Amino acid sequence: MQTTTPASRLAAGLRAHGFVGRLLEPGDADYDTARAGWNGAIDRRPAAVAYAHDADDVAAAIRAAREAGLSLTVRGGGHSVSGRSVRDGALCIDLRALNGVEVDPRTAVVRVGGGALLSELDAATQEHGLAVPAGQISHTGVGGLTLGGGIGWLMRHHGLTVDSLLGAEVVLADGDIVRASAEERADLFWALRGGGGEFGVVTRFEFRAHRVGPTVLGGMLVYPWEDARAAFQATRALMAGAPDALTAFAVLVTAPPQAPFPAEHHGRPVAVVAVAWTGELEEGERVLAPLRAGCPPLVDLVAPMPYVALQSMLDATAPHGSRYYDKLHYLPEVGDAFIDALLAGFAEVPTPHSHVMTAWMGGALDRVAPGETAFGHRGARAFTWLIGCSGEDAVEPAAEWVRSVFDATAPFASAGVYVNALDEGRPVRDAYGDEIWARLVDVKRRYDPDGVFDAHGIRP
Ligand SMILES: Cc1cc2nc3c(=O)[nH]c(=O)nc-3n(C[C@H](O)[C@H](O)[C@H](O)COP(=O)(O)OP(=O)(O)OC[C@H]3O[C@@H](n4cnc5c(N)ncnc54)[C@H](O)[C@@H]3O)c2cc1C
Repeated sequence: MQTTTPASRLAAGLRAHGFVGRLLEPGDADYDTARAGWNGAIDRRPAAVAYAHDADDVAAAIRAAREAGLSLTVRGGGHSVSGRSVRDGALCIDLRALNGVEVDPRTAVVRVGGGALLSELDAATQEHGLAVPAGQISHTGVGGLTLGGGIGWLMRHHGLTVDSLLGAEVVLADGDIVRASAEERADLFWALRGGGGEFGVVTRFEFRAHRVGPTVLGGMLVYPWEDARAAFQATRALMAGAPDALTAFAVLVTAPPQAPFPAEHHGRPVAVVAVAWTGELEEGERVLAPLRAGCPPLVDLVAPMPYVALQSMLDATAPHGSRYYDKLHYLPEVGDAFIDALLAGFAEVPTPHSHVMTAWMGGALDRVAPGETAFGHRGARAFTWLIGCSGEDAVEPAAEWVRSVFDATAPFASAGVYVNALDEGRPVRDAYGDEIWARLVDVKRRYDPDGVFDAHGIRP
């Protein structure tokens, strides 16, 4: 008698359901490349990777995996730091082939494939002087970023990525392909806007774009370590009354041994205030003047630049394949005691590529009422994102450092975490307040009662 295994049942099921994409299994030449994500610290062996071609392929893969008794994961850009898009023994449904971007310049409506990268979205929208708010590293996936909320340079001017979402084509847990919007399946549409990919596979997003650029004012002000505290305080003062068109991040990094960092700072910690102004350029110069005059930087790299250059300005800080570990705090304020604890923690940074980003929120983020979308913690004043990176070495010293700075700064944080920065072991419950959590569980019960999509583990 011929025995069947989950793998053989999967392959047969995919054929039976008409899957036309590529399937890579253990033993195939490209299997190791196929299972690798952005974070080199994640080393998992999925049962197979199915490269879906379209929504029908996604539906076929979901049905085949379920019939074969396999759990599944979904991969867009592969940027999940904790590696939620690949799991040992599960089928990974890869969406990268679904990367088309269609822009209607007349209505400013943008249709984006569920596997597109931010660079693909930005390139297509900027051809028409439009942009959809997204993240800060251009090789991040639109899919995962959007479904968790989407924070970035435009967040104070135009809101989170989900605040510009008009609708989505979704493949549900039973393989049905449906549409979700304010008019159709409004409960599902609500949960997609912050619920973190737990309700179905989005094969197409539909966004409203905004007029942005093509030239914006952006760049970095670099401060020596002795002035790091003053740089944080000056940025805080600036952001206290800043127009929504200004977004600022205060970043602690180790200066790399290259221009524009002066030689005497190479290998030493520095503070970088990274800014983006997306309003009228001359007004931006006026708005930034108090920061430049009150706390003069060592190097001033803020200048008019194409929006797409702003969107990739930080790419070099996040190379593929390095080993990473991250944690995030929301903050009720960027107070002096917090700044001191953060600086003391960064003074102990063990690796040159580890860094900390503190961003001021507010503006358009707060013009959407809490609970109007499933994004968890609207109303926070700021967040600080600790990113440990060890290059190709073991991640543990960098991860240990992240945990210790996280603990040292915890007394100054508010409860909660951004679902897209949920570190392994932290419960997804922490990403939401009580009301949003109750609604998410309810929508989960309706659309995915068997927990087919369990990247984070929202369970009825
Ligand atoms: C270098 C770097 C920079 C980042 N910068 C930002 C930033 O500026 N702003 C910000 O908000 N976040 C940022 N993030 C966090 C980022 O939003 C999350 O890691 C997000 O999950 C990445 O999406 P992805 O599609 O690339 O990830 P993947 O690893 O492919 O997917 C992560 C999870 O998202 C879900 N998912 C992805 N696509 C789909 C889809 N089409 N349908 C259903 N589920 C899907 C799945 O559950 C999957 O497990 C950054 C992360 C990294 C690594």
